[in-house]
Amino acid sequence: MVDAVSVDPATVVARVRATFDTGRTRPLAWRLGQLNALRALLVEQSDAFLAALNADLGKSATEAQRSEVGFVVNEIDHTLAHLEQWLRPKPAGVPAAFMPAEARVVRDPLGVVLIIAPWNYPLQLALAPLVGALAAGNTAVLKPSEMAPATSAAMARLIPRYLDREAVAVVEGAVAETTALLEQRFDHIFYTGNGAVGRIVMTAAAKHLTPVTLELGGKSPAVVEPGADLAVTAQRIARGRFQNAGQTCVAPDYVLAIGATAAALEAELVTAVRALYGENPATNSEYGRIVNERHHDRLTALLADGRIVTGGTHDRASRYLAPTVLADVSPEAPVMQAEIFGPVLPIVAVPDLDAAIAFINERDKPLALYAFTESEETKQRLTEETSSGGLVFGLTVAHLAVPELPFGGVGESGMGRYHGEYSIDTFSHLKAVLDKPIA
Ligand code: NAD
Repeated sequence: MVDAVSVDPATVVARVRATFDTGRTRPLAWRLGQLNALRALLVEQSDAFLAALNADLGKSATEAQRSEVGFVVNEIDHTLAHLEQWLRPKPAGVPAAFMPAEARVVRDPLGVVLIIAPWNYPLQLALAPLVGALAAGNTAVLKPSEMAPATSAAMARLIPRYLDREAVAVVEGAVAETTALLEQRFDHIFYTGNGAVGRIVMTAAAKHLTPVTLELGGKSPAVVEPGADLAVTAQRIARGRFQNAGQTCVAPDYVLAIGATAAALEAELVTAVRALYGENPATNSEYGRIVNERHHDRLTALLADGRIVTGGTHDRASRYLAPTVLADVSPEAPVMQAEIFGPVLPIVAVPDLDAAIAFINERDKPLALYAFTESEETKQRLTEETSSGGLVFGLTVAHLAVPELPFGGVGESGMGRYHGEYSIDTFSHLKAVLDKPIA
């Protein structure tokens, strides 16, 4: 729906499909025009988006600019700079038996894309996929998360003012509206959120044989090996864990501390949290809030296990939960059973790298694996002996801001990938073209 809240999903999809069928979204000029319009929307309306993100998640302007508005602007700029080249047909070799002939791969738009976005980075995770969908020449229906209502409303209000209204529709709503949308036939569904709903999305997609991208989550470990600079390590883990009050899909979920690092890391994490948010994070505007009371209750229940090294204080009324580090955590503790998705960081001690690798491989494949080590051999072993959506040495979270890297999960952390040129491949059909002269 572009203007009103209660438009029939079939009508919305039929309208953007009719637009796709006219062929007007295919030319490079239309695609570049939409990307420039989306850029203008983000730049000119950034105050409205920053206010909405603050209302939904207590996001500071600095963080919202960096990880939401600015993130999407960077993705647009990278795409604008390269799109023409990405769309060039890619020549392919032809076996001698077919010669003379030419072969090439052509990127064909798929048609109508449905984007279902979550609440934790409600702007980035709605609009970064939209950049790819439009750049690939598709029309799109965007379903923002109802759990970030201010950001959802801002997108529904502002997107039609900037983008082609007949090609991009924003449908606000919760489960009922999403369920109704999923009954429609799309040419691709791009879902970001949890695995339970991912299964619902994939089941609905199967009915129409619609391909899906599932950007899911999971428990992303941070392996810390003796010899790594623990002060720097703690700073980088704390920044990734506690930004957006821990509600980041690629946040380090827990530390796998090898050997003696567990004890030393505790003190360094206390220092790192204080350096980030001061003595009282509750009064620091850079520190976010939990999205709602249900998640606040879920998170505070996890504090019963292990020993609280720092943090632990909370206030339900303001949905505040201090940045919390838990030590001496058993792998059987509830906090180690599911993605935490909040500002709680358990430290699990393991004796050596073999034990760390076994710990990772006994569990679901994570969206990200982080490791802090000076050893090239350890890097090699983690690369070859574990499976994860992304693998990052010496940093956390940052890989998703490298536009030439694919972003996506594997196994329980998702399927498919996007960002930069990978988005073009996700939202295109790679058509094989073989051309042999008849005479
Ligand atoms: P959410 O509750 O906002 O749900 C995501 C979307 O699914 C929303 O648009 C919502 O309306 C829709 N939805 C919810 N229930 C539905 C149902 N029964 N049927 C159809 N649609 C439904 O967000 P969430 O799932 O709580 O998000 C958190 C999860 O997302 C975490 O697991 C996190 O790791 C993951 N995540 C992954 C990424 C990534 O890029 N891989 C990014 C952010 C979040």
